Amino acid sequence: MKAAILYKANTPLEVVDVQQQGPQGGEARVRVKAAGVCHSDWHIINGDWTLPLPMVLGHEAAGIVEDVGAGVGNVKPGDHVIFSFRPQCGRCLYCSIGRSILCDGHQTARWAMLDGTCRLKRDGQDIFQMARIGTFAESVVCPAEMLVPIRKEMPWPQAALMGCCVPTGVGAVTRCAEVEAGATVVVIGCGGVGLNVVQGAKLAGAKTIIAADLLENKLGYAREFGATHTINAKTEDVVKGVQELTGGLGTDYAFDAIGGDKTAVTILDAVAPGGHAVIVGIPSFATRAPIAPVAMVYGEKTLSGTYYGSIRPAIDFGVLADLAMDKRIDLDSLISRTYKFDEINEGFRLLTTGAVARGVIQF
Ligand SMILES: [Zn+2]
Ligand SMILES: [Zn+2]
Repeated sequence: MKAAILYKANTPLEVVDVQQQGPQGGEARVRVKAAGVCHSDWHIINGDWTLPLPMVLGHEAAGIVEDVGAGVGNVKPGDHVIFSFRPQCGRCLYCSIGRSILCDGHQTARWAMLDGTCRLKRDGQDIFQMARIGTFAESVVCPAEMLVPIRKEMPWPQAALMGCCVPTGVGAVTRCAEVEAGATVVVIGCGGVGLNVVQGAKLAGAKTIIAADLLENKLGYAREFGATHTINAKTEDVVKGVQELTGGLGTDYAFDAIGGDKTAVTILDAVAPGGHAVIVGIPSFATRAPIAPVAMVYGEKTLSGTYYGSIRPAIDFGVLADLAMDKRIDLDSLISRTYKFDEINEGFRLLTTGAVARGVIQF
């Protein structure tokens, strides 16, 4: 079977044949049907996140279970599944309190199986799998706990997006910030995650949804997804623009879908006293942000982070799938490009130009 391997940062992915060992106890093999092209993969390609290589990247995907190892109870052959990029041991403190995104029940490296061994080899060398899944591959063997079955009528490219950008963006609004009807919201960054923050805010009933980005085409996408106002951050000051649109106060909620040093400061400055600023996009490991803590005290502002939209994949993938099938969230408009597997490097090139809302590889 073929997989896209990163051998060295800042070099193209190599789509090559690899040897795959079948599922061991607690594992499953999935035929991948679609996989999204996400900035988190790009962070590894460009060296922002230094992880051991060679590695098969990809973490936003859906497919069909082909076979399972001993002791697997949550999925069976024929199931349509979405990959979760976080484990869920079911036994640790965080799993027990319903915050499985923070699961710390496994001590082995996050790029191998739970027993620490690898299922992929090429030329005798172990190949790692991003987030224990590595979905830029025709077939994936992974821990079965990373898989969540979903409704079979969901189209594959749409189902794939349920693995990262949709839950991260919508969950940031509904699960982390718990935005209430009538609230005012600003989101910075209108890529795959930011657009889902916008539609999460619309789903929650926010009355004012301000979207900011450097690119005019992305602001156009944001308006399609429910933004009531847009700010081009290239030509306008975001904090000033937000204040003008909110009677000088700032918004009740602000989301940073980029994950940068400047954007972390901007969201904290953009929220009103008593407001909640949330970092959604994942910064590079080296990023530090010069926030002004005094504003947090005088203004009783909250700054928090959310990982994977603070969702519970086993529950929320199904909830989001139902919302999508009822057309209460829009997955179709997110997919501006589809690619064949061997066009994957072109997918990353277009991701970095900002030309697409989301690109999806179809297998
Ligand atoms: Zn992602
Ligand atoms: Zn756990």
